[in-house]
Amino acid sequence: MDQIECVIIGAGVVGLSIARALALEGRDVLIIEKEDAFGLHTSSRNSEVIHAGIYYPKDSLKAQLCVEGKQLLYEYCNLRSIPHKRTGKLIVATEDFEIETVKQYIDKASDNGVDDLIWLSQSEVAELEPEVSSVGAVFSPSTGIIDSHSYMLSLLGDTENAGGLVVYQTSIASIKPQGDKFIVKTTGLNAHEIKASVVINAAGLYACDVARTIAELDETSIPQPYYAKAHYYSLSGRNPFTHLVYPVARKASLGVHVTVDMGGAARFGPDLDWIEGIDYSFDESRKQLFYDAIRRYWPSVRRNQLQPGYTGIRPKISGPNEPAADFLIQSYEDHQMKGLINLFGIESPGLTASLAIAELVGRQIESES
Ligand SMILES: Cc1cc2nc3c(=O)[nH]c(=O)nc-3n(C[C@H](O)[C@H](O)[C@H](O)COP(=O)(O)OP(=O)(O)OC[C@H]3O[C@@H](n4cnc5c(N)ncnc54)[C@H](O)[C@@H]3O)c2cc1C
Repeated sequence: MDQIECVIIGAGVVGLSIARALALEGRDVLIIEKEDAFGLHTSSRNSEVIHAGIYYPKDSLKAQLCVEGKQLLYEYCNLRSIPHKRTGKLIVATEDFEIETVKQYIDKASDNGVDDLIWLSQSEVAELEPEVSSVGAVFSPSTGIIDSHSYMLSLLGDTENAGGLVVYQTSIASIKPQGDKFIVKTTGLNAHEIKASVVINAAGLYACDVARTIAELDETSIPQPYYAKAHYYSLSGRNPFTHLVYPVARKASLGVHVTVDMGGAARFGPDLDWIEGIDYSFDESRKQLFYDAIRRYWPSVRRNQLQPGYTGIRPKISGPNEPAADFLIQSYEDHQMKGLINLFGIESPGLTASLAIAELVGRQIESES
């Protein structure tokens, strides 16, 4: 049986960030990933936005880790020359009755320590984005975009340079506590038994399934998973946008916004569709809904400019009729198992927050050792 200090389950952006942080502390790290490459699930099926930290409830983990993570991420991108851009974002009011709601984001952001939002008049919006129809907008200058693949590659590079390892096509079969260690059994290409002091469950959409393989873990500590699919359409032809443009947020989703990728292409999404299991198929019948939503702020869009792009799935732990849950990061205090961290419900802004999540998990591990 192999011995390793820290086993991290999942090579998405969260698992990779945690692996890097622990490896840089001089810990022995092994990442176990069931796919044949890193980042094939939620970490590559998202909007690639560096969020400012506007929408999340005050004092929530989402708010705190987004604001901290944004700062860390910009610093890291500069240090490692990872393609990114502080594009700024407009949250547009398309009708007078939305102005109040949009203006409230200035105070909401301020509650989270984000004090740089400003109100722009209709003509100021038109100067920034001539094709956007609005009656005014709030501008967030610290919102940006990132090439998430380059980011993950860099996190993995840092981990490997510090002596960490990743194994692919290998899944978790079971995890059993034994004394102050865990026996981790894997299946697949690297089927093995490993003795580890620390186990981090960063399996994203599968985190609840992985948690159920942990012997002696109180089942009531494992939340019920829910899956909310998102579709993205890409824009064919010239992209008229230089900023991210968001309509007013609707229940459980930010609405169909426009983001720009590092290559300058525009895409629209995400919508929100509650589904039963993990299924990335694209439902093309949603095109009319997208077209109607986009026309609210971009009247000259043509239906045939919208091309099916890709889908992603939000790893939710609150259901359709419940208030949105916060990130749930469970350590010894929550489940009384030393060395085990379960990360549940790491939906947006998990990409932005990833380095801050890693620092938090690092502190939790430190306090338990
Ligand atoms: C539609 C959408 C849009 C988003 N937009 C943004 C955004 O613009 N900005 C932002 O900050 N955040 C955004 N997010 C959130 C962000 O993408 C996620 O928070 C983040 O990618 C989660 O990363 P993760 O590592 O936890 O999960 P994942 O990327 O899903 O990684 C989990 C990994 O675990 C592996 N795994 C699962 N089970 C096992 C097992 N049994 N054994 C071994 N490996 C296993 C999986 O294969 C996977 O590689 C968005 C999310 C969605 C769904």
